Amino acid sequence: MNDDDWPYETTFYGDADGEPADFLPAFDFAPEPPPSDEAVAQALHDVFGFSSLRGVQDQVVARVLAGQSTLAIMPTGAGKSLTYQLPAVLLGGTCVVVSPLIALMHDQLRSARANGIRAAALTSADADRAQTMDAFRAGELDLLYVAPERASQSYFRDLLSTARIALFAIDEAHCVSEWGHDFRPDYRLLRPLLDAFPQVPRLALTATADNHTRADILAQLGIPNEGLIVAGFDRPNIRYTIRPRDNAMRQLKAVVDENPGPGIIYAPTRARVEQLATSLATATGRRVLPYHAGLDADVRARNQAAFVASEDMVMVATVAFGMGIDKPDVRFVAHAGIPKSIEGYYQETGRAGRDGDPSVAVMFWGADDFARARQRLSEIEPHRLQSERQRLDALAGLVETAACRRAVLLRHFGEDPPQACGNCDNCLDPAGVIDVTELARKLLSAVYRTGQSYGLGHLEKVLGGEADDRVLQRGHDKLSVFGLLTEEERPLLKALARALQARGSLTPTEHGGLALGGDARLILKGEASVQIVVPPKPAPKRRGGRDDSANPVGDPLFEALRELRRTLAQEAGVPPYVVFHDSTLREMAAARPTTLDQLGRIGGVGTRKLDAYGDAFLAAIRNAG
Ligand code: ADP
Ligand code: MG
Repeated sequence: MNDDDWPYETTFYGDADGEPADFLPAFDFAPEPPPSDEAVAQALHDVFGFSSLRGVQDQVVARVLAGQSTLAIMPTGAGKSLTYQLPAVLLGGTCVVVSPLIALMHDQLRSARANGIRAAALTSADADRAQTMDAFRAGELDLLYVAPERASQSYFRDLLSTARIALFAIDEAHCVSEWGHDFRPDYRLLRPLLDAFPQVPRLALTATADNHTRADILAQLGIPNEGLIVAGFDRPNIRYTIRPRDNAMRQLKAVVDENPGPGIIYAPTRARVEQLATSLATATGRRVLPYHAGLDADVRARNQAAFVASEDMVMVATVAFGMGIDKPDVRFVAHAGIPKSIEGYYQETGRAGRDGDPSVAVMFWGADDFARARQRLSEIEPHRLQSERQRLDALAGLVETAACRRAVLLRHFGEDPPQACGNCDNCLDPAGVIDVTELARKLLSAVYRTGQSYGLGHLEKVLGGEADDRVLQRGHDKLSVFGLLTEEERPLLKALARALQARGSLTPTEHGGLALGGDARLILKGEASVQIVVPPKPAPKRRGGRDDSANPVGDPLFEALRELRRTLAQEAGVPPYVVFHDSTLREMAAARPTTLDQLGRIGGVGTRKLDAYGDAFLAAIRNAG
């Protein structure tokens, strides 16, 4: 991000070398008494249109209002923004929000402003920086968004000492830690700024942080250990499904066809992204655009903007796409291959359903994904090898399990979930598990006896007793494993090979053959067993696509409200969800309010939106009869 064009032209206290001027007036505001519970509830309702705080939001908000520094670990969609936006509205002074990406800041700005919150951003993409600084000095801002690069400059520190600061909110706080996956050195430079305002509480927010990273964030940002608040990782509205990949195009097309809302498909490479985007657009008739780091910056920005504004678009992307996306109504996230780790999977799938509505996460995995990933292990520095291998093993455990997917995920994050969630493929259509240790021993010894250089096709012929030219030429019909395969075993061979590759007992050779690896010898000696999961038969296709969404699709009033939302959003130049979320329209369609007062009681309708859109929506409801 280019954020180095600080507007030197504007006058404010502070010298041009960037040293803080010590003649600056040191504002020393007496702490305010925290607002009452009634005042909090009132602001929550009037500004945000919400009837109550959710999950750990109340704990976090209470600490912030009491002036205590806090690190809140809350999953995506839990409502982290509210934990600083609500105090920003209630407290005197400005809440300074440090955020890593301009796109994120602008998304937040739009939503905050739509609720009537006085918010501005200081980034290289904002032409109104001088005005913003004036407004800040005049105490007219509730929220000031800034990137870490700018926040750590001493000019900015000087600017901040000219008015009252209510709170420092550090969003995506894992960026401060080298242990995290998105380390941003500029986050490390925030500490002097925070320390320059010791009386101002700090609120660090992130969705993902293992124990190591948490401790690091606390230390780096000077937050006391007792300030740590951790919400559960569960995303109950996301339905997880994980399937072997047999025909990626057909499988992905089915996902797109079944899910009419916006969706993201993650693909492993740029070439694959391009190819899938093109073929899926043709095959599904949906708007499908690509996103990867190899595209021009303006194409990327355009595709991202189109996605954010859309109610039905599909984005095919590499993992380069995601962090800047706060789109709440993403209905599905599909993986065309394995993610890097369970952490990555959780984060990527977490982009679905921030609004709390039903959403799906579908992964299609192949043995070759694991083979490639295990091959890459050989390029890793020795001290990281162990942990990288564990990452892959954990991922293999997730895809190969016949147990509840959610339970596996949550246990990975140190939670103690129930045995079954009722909302993943394995809970909904229980898979069978069969012990195939004997078959595994046959396959592994066939691999061994043929010299560890043949692919599955050849091995299957040898085991199946098919003496074709190549088998005869190599003398493989003379081996003890020739013809060992029974008719019942034959259909399991492919799934077994996939499972053995996922767990590393079979590894690919350079020329597409298979060799022994991992615990293969233990299996051969009968000291380790092998189970595979047999997926249930695919359910008969429901015609016209499945609609698992909570929306009363086809209800003329709901559709009319969506249409109105589209028009209003277009006029205001914002994505539809900024006007109202689906859940708000759903409630309207069901309750059919006839007065502004009734409309104001619907979730998501605050005072500002009631003023701006109330009459239009009431009219639409009236017209629908
Ligand atoms: P996060 O940053 O934790 O991923 P957001 O702050 O973007 O989540 O909020 C996710 C969604 O939840 C937003 O659409 C927001 O309007 C909604 N939300 C937040 N808090 C509440 C609440 N108390 N009641 C209802 N909806 C809420
Ligand atoms: Mg957020």
